[in-house]
Amino acid sequence: MDLDCDVLVIGGGIAGLSLASELARRRGTGAGVVLAEAEPRPAHHTSGRSAEQLIPSYGPAPVRELTELTVAALLAPGPDAERPVAWPSTVVVVGAGEALRAEAVPGTTELDREAVLGLCPELACAPAAEVEGGLLDTTSVRTDAAALVERHRRAAEAAGARILLRAPVTAAAREDGAWAVRAGTHRVRARQVVVAAGAWADAVAGLFGAVPLGLVPLRRTAALVRLARPLAADHPMVVAAGDAWYYRRAGAGALVSPAEAVPSEPCDARPVAADVDALVARLNELTCLGITGVERAWTGLRTEAADGVPVCGPDPEVPGLLWLAGQSGYGFQTSTAMARAAADLLLEGAVGPWCTPATVAALDPARLRG
Ligand SMILES: Cc1cc2nc3c(=O)[nH]c(=O)nc-3n(C[C@H](O)[C@H](O)[C@H](O)COP(=O)(O)OP(=O)(O)OC[C@H]3O[C@@H](n4cnc5c(N)ncnc54)[C@H](O)[C@@H]3O)c2cc1C
Repeated sequence: MDLDCDVLVIGGGIAGLSLASELARRRGTGAGVVLAEAEPRPAHHTSGRSAEQLIPSYGPAPVRELTELTVAALLAPGPDAERPVAWPSTVVVVGAGEALRAEAVPGTTELDREAVLGLCPELACAPAAEVEGGLLDTTSVRTDAAALVERHRRAAEAAGARILLRAPVTAAAREDGAWAVRAGTHRVRARQVVVAAGAWADAVAGLFGAVPLGLVPLRRTAALVRLARPLAADHPMVVAAGDAWYYRRAGAGALVSPAEAVPSEPCDARPVAADVDALVARLNELTCLGITGVERAWTGLRTEAADGVPVCGPDPEVPGLLWLAGQSGYGFQTSTAMARAAADLLLEGAVGPWCTPATVAALDPARLRG
């Protein structure tokens, strides 16, 4: 099929779908927006594999600013009384010494060991050298990733945006001031293109002649485990200082992660069974969680720029090409604000005053081109 549009978004994860729905909302119509996704369904890759937590105290300063904005937007009531996509869910970072102090940022409350054990009695088994105290973030929220992705897809399509599935972008050429793009069986003519292709962002941007930004996909695994005793309904998510591991309640069991960051090629990442087994052994040794088995495990790729800050901005050399990539472990928690920034750039040419100039500069892909 031949399509003509103002904006072609490449990638149907949380980044691309948030942008498609933001553009549709802003323009009052999604006509003029096409999203091309390589897989048969949206969010097949990293966006279908997250821990679904949005933590305003997590990440570098620009990420924290974008997270606060995103959390506020997701807690606001949805259109047409849709089911909520986010709800309050406390996080406590635990640890000792310098590793714990390094995690203290505005918005967190220091806890001594006794206070940590009050919230997380299963840590009573952990030696004080490992759990000396904690940092509490009561502004954190959980999201329903699948519902959020679906909300964006429906909003974009209801406003007339075209979402193409099984449409991998494989070739692009500049013709008469626009891009002529091959996306599966479709030929799409687009005045602006957004690269929201997660682990494939550098490769996809290369089809348009862009120099890679050096984005590195990093493998991270999570697993659902069975517990001898379920955690309380209001049990906080527990994160080890220094990103060593984390766990949170998931029904009668728990979601656990070794929080590894192992460089990988862009691919459909799969768990390494030994990583999960080692984590279960470690948590059973350190805590009284009493993990009795693993229900299922999965792995995704958190794609990162060298400075750990996401990328949102025009390519410095290639006309009509915008990057929306490098979200690392913050893709959900920054999604609404990143989409808003990208939409501002596409529609207005600059990010509005709702975002600080320091954060706009921190997101600029030009910073990664030395
Ligand atoms: C274990 C784990 C836990 C995490 N927990 C959290 C969390 O609690 N909170 C949080 O905020 N973040 C978390 N993250 C990170 C978050 O999941 C990512 O930042 C986010 O999903 C990235 O979204 P994306 O849309 O950029 O990438 P993706 O979801 O990977 O989407 C990119 C899409 O581009 C498509 N694509 C690639 N090449 C092409 C092409 N040539 N043509 C067309 N389409 C193409 C792919 O098929 C893919 O669907 C976690 C990640 C992992 C792995």
